[in-house]
Amino acid sequence: MISATPLSSASGAGGCLCGAIRYRVTSPLRPVVACHCRQCQITSGNHVAATSAPREAVEVDGDVQWFQSSIEARRGFCATCGSNLFWDGGGDRISVMAGTLDQPTGLRLAGHIYCDTRGDWFELTDGLPQYSGSDDRALVDLP
Ligand SMILES: [Zn+2]
Ligand SMILES: [Zn+2]
Repeated sequence: MISATPLSSASGAGGCLCGAIRYRVTSPLRPVVACHCRQCQITSGNHVAATSAPREAVEVDGDVQWFQSSIEARRGFCATCGSNLFWDGGGDRISVMAGTLDQPTGLRLAGHIYCDTRGDWFELTDGLPQYSGSDDRALVDLP
């Protein structure tokens, strides 16, 4: 039995590499979940590490480009520098790529999802929970 990581009290701000896009999150951020699905591998170069927040709590300044990566999800990025910023699955929360947050974030990694498709050259040695599919709800205690 794995106990879920409680919701962080941290909120934050961040942006893309070139500075054209900045965002602010006005609610507590979810602990970070690492996703090893093929789409995240390809768009990030290894895996995505993402936090999340209620959609209405993410305020964006700048022109985010969206790529429809599957029937239900789209990925937000900067067209100038290519930074991956957001993952939007159409629900009430939007994922924010943790690496784009200003540091310190006050967040910690809760675990890994889609481990079945993780890069065969990449070892998971942090001892955190690993799931074969999309089980971030098991990893993180959300309201
Ligand atoms: Zn940029
Ligand atoms: Zn993924």
